[in-house]
Amino acid sequence: MLIPFASWPEIDARIKTNKAIVVPIGSNEQHGPTGLLGTDWLCPEIIAHAAERRDESLTVAPTFNIGMAQHHLAFAGTISLRPSTFMAAITDWVSSLSRHGFERIYFLNGHGGNVATIEATFAEIYAEWSFVEEAPPFVLKLKNWWDLPGVNALCNAIFPTGHGMHATPSEIAVTQAAYPDRIKTADYAPKIAPSGPIRDALDYRARFPDGRIGSDPGQASPEKGQQIIDAAVPALLKDVAAFAAEVLPGR
Ligand SMILES: [Zn+2]
Repeated sequence: MLIPFASWPEIDARIKTNKAIVVPIGSNEQHGPTGLLGTDWLCPEIIAHAAERRDESLTVAPTFNIGMAQHHLAFAGTISLRPSTFMAAITDWVSSLSRHGFERIYFLNGHGGNVATIEATFAEIYAEWSFVEEAPPFVLKLKNWWDLPGVNALCNAIFPTGHGMHATPSEIAVTQAAYPDRIKTADYAPKIAPSGPIRDALDYRARFPDGRIGSDPGQASPEKGQQIIDAAVPALLKDVAAFAAEVLPGR
């Protein structure tokens, strides 16, 4: 069930039998000269929606499509939340979902730059309950889509060189598989982009002039993207099922 395409009575009924929900979460940020700005929210959305088509008992929230991307702000089209805004927004999403009875909230993330802030948000949320010596009525989980079992190994096997850290051929390929009519091409110079630390937006633009880090997205193809999606979908279904079935001690 996709929440945006459901009615409230359907969601009401769903919560009675299945209290787990997947929230695709990412970022709208530059992805090199050919990558779509939506890449980091499109990838988890593509995988979660494909999983829902495979198994309708999976409940998927609207995609949280703006994240923490301050370092990409020197490139046009990037939209970023500062960490504090991002934390406030995630907290309100969790409170909204929890209010209606979702008890297992699984964030499927597509942007490495979100990880620290999402983890800090989980700690803030849990702290509210820990201070009053009560158990929260929900548990939270963060999983990057590339960390789903088997996916990273497959990406490394498909792209043994030039995978890199940003605008990777894996993520570009996943978007190409889902949106083949949006594929863009460019002459990459150098073929494999430079690597280095991530700091502020001007430093980033100076180090990584076309936006890529360590990657050669020219290796991406829709076929390779479909291979990655086909590996990620069953891995996601299994991971969410395990999370939903996890026994919580003391409750
Ligand atoms: Zn990305």
